[in-house]
Amino acid sequence: MSTPPRVRFAPSPTGFLHVGGARTALFNWLYARQTGGTLVLRIEDTDRERSSEAHTQVILDGLTWLGLDWDEGPLFQGAHADRHREDALRLLAAGKAYKDFMTAEELTAAREEAKAEGRPFRYHRAEVGLPPEETARREAAGMPHAVRFAMPDEELAWDDAVHGRISWQGRDLDDFIILRSDGTAIYNLAVVSDDVAMRISHVIRGDDHVSNTPKQIALYRALGHPVPTFAHVPMILGSDGKKLSKRHGATAVGDYREEGILPAAMRNFLALLGWSPGNDDEVLPLDEVIARFDLGGIMTKPAVFDTTKLEWMNGQYLSMLPAEELLAPVERELARLGIDPAGRDLLPVIEAVKARSRTITVVAEQVAARLPGATLPRDDKAHKLIDKLGDRFAINLGLAREALTAVVESAWQPAHLETVIKAVAEEGGLKLGDVMQPIRVALTGGTVSEPVHELLAVIGRDESLRRITAA
Ligand code: GLU
Repeated sequence: MSTPPRVRFAPSPTGFLHVGGARTALFNWLYARQTGGTLVLRIEDTDRERSSEAHTQVILDGLTWLGLDWDEGPLFQGAHADRHREDALRLLAAGKAYKDFMTAEELTAAREEAKAEGRPFRYHRAEVGLPPEETARREAAGMPHAVRFAMPDEELAWDDAVHGRISWQGRDLDDFIILRSDGTAIYNLAVVSDDVAMRISHVIRGDDHVSNTPKQIALYRALGHPVPTFAHVPMILGSDGKKLSKRHGATAVGDYREEGILPAAMRNFLALLGWSPGNDDEVLPLDEVIARFDLGGIMTKPAVFDTTKLEWMNGQYLSMLPAEELLAPVERELARLGIDPAGRDLLPVIEAVKARSRTITVVAEQVAARLPGATLPRDDKAHKLIDKLGDRFAINLGLAREALTAVVESAWQPAHLETVIKAVAEEGGLKLGDVMQPIRVALTGGTVSEPVHELLAVIGRDESLRRITAA
């Protein structure tokens, strides 16, 4: 039996948990859960200036909210600076890296010279490096130096689990710095050093890292370690085809949480962002995603982040979930809106509105609109309806009120109320909609809701009649 995979999610705590990061985390998590593997969480906090503990916390909270747990960590990259340095020095001792005493000015001059002569600039020891005597002189003088990796002249190729074969030539890549003159390791070395130490078998990460991979492969080989499997997941674009950014709306997972998206819906949505189950299935329970997920099903072309689809997905989850499960988030939302349900049983109200709502926030607003004392601003569609019906708005509402007033409390039930409203329309020779819509506007301020007889039942007799009279 082969050893179960070890994967990692390695965010840099330099910002919030971006939806792209969350998607990468999810794919790693799905792979680990499906294969009985291990997910390591590694916080890549080596950029001291941009990293913060607050961001780390936001990332951990975001993962937890999404229901993504990890088996090891969080480990902090910064805590392993010594190992990174040792690995670099090992390469230096083995002659696979060299000391570079070139100053920043000299480097710039070399670049400009190449540009002036119209040749591509590549930092290769033989072409760009200082003459050996000069290197020796600077070394003897104790001048500061970086350590550069001597890029081998060989093919650096891998079978990407998503993209298939990708191949680079070492000679097309620079001898890149692995250790700065202050003794800190550069990104690519730190990542490889950590992935080796953590025995990572599969690196599942964003497409933006494809160009790092050949350098990392060269480092694995130089350090004498097997190269892991790489899977580069496609970028996420906004609906206009441009890289997803703030311009497209919320990009932080926390914003969607605020907007009332359910974690289960977000997870389902993210799973389908770049991965296909192989057919048109959209609403996939988590168990099924775990069972069906495969790296080969990840698409090579960029995924489009469609907010409308996310809301639709959320609506699907809202209608599937029992009202009980929505109670706590709705109560939180009501509290945020400053609304006190005053001991009212909210479950039937949530039940009535959840199927027609796309977010928890909307559920809460709809619930609030059905509680006594709600303010009911009329929306545009309501105004249009009133304009269209003219006098009939008040007349029809009056007829409905008369009939509904005759319904006693114990008979105030959906089925009976439906019969009463139908009778009003029939007796008055009116279109059913012309009776129902005015009631809806009177009860909610809008023209869309659950069926009117259910709406009346949810709001209750006294409050319904009060609203109709007020309208
Ligand atoms: N820290 C890197 C990032 O946030 C990920 C590194 C990796 O996955 O190899 O983009």
